[in-house]
Amino acid sequence: MGLLDIFKKSPASCDLPIIGVAESACPHCNTLLQRKPAKKTKCPQCGKFIYVRTRPQDQLKVLVTEQQADLLEEQWSIIKGTHEAYLAEKQKIQAERARLAKLFRAEPSENDIKWGLLGKDAMEHAVKKGGGVSSDSSDNELFCEGDGSISDSSPFHFLEQC
Ligand SMILES: [Zn+2]
Repeated sequence: MGLLDIFKKSPASCDLPIIGVAESACPHCNTLLQRKPAKKTKCPQCGKFIYVRTRPQDQLKVLVTEQQADLLEEQWSIIKGTHEAYLAEKQKIQAERARLAKLFRAEPSENDIKWGLLGKDAMEHAVKKGGGVSSDSSDNELFCEGDGSISDSSPFHFLEQC
């Protein structure tokens, strides 16, 4: 017993719905695939994207739709204990999507949202640093002293995309 017990299947994972196709079949149209894809692939039958994710309950690689990939990501966050951060990030993305949709008068793409958020984060960091431009150049006379605490602990990371 001991430390290893912590890594055993957590009780939380038992309550989560089992998602995904463990066989080599499209999660959209159930067409059997010649080979089980190892990464994001387009279904030759229905043309929709098939995502490959690891299922927390049995650690199996499963084929999922984009929505199911999101659900699996949420399940992982519950198991890892980062569900709150996950939800906060989701909320941030939704707010950004709404903001950009208003700005563009059209539905923004995932990339627009990603870059919109990156831009925002960069601005927040710049403000925190007192507007100073950071530079590695030793010729830089505007040597920044300050408290020197450049935030490297952004709680947000972007969704893994393959
Ligand atoms: Zn299909």
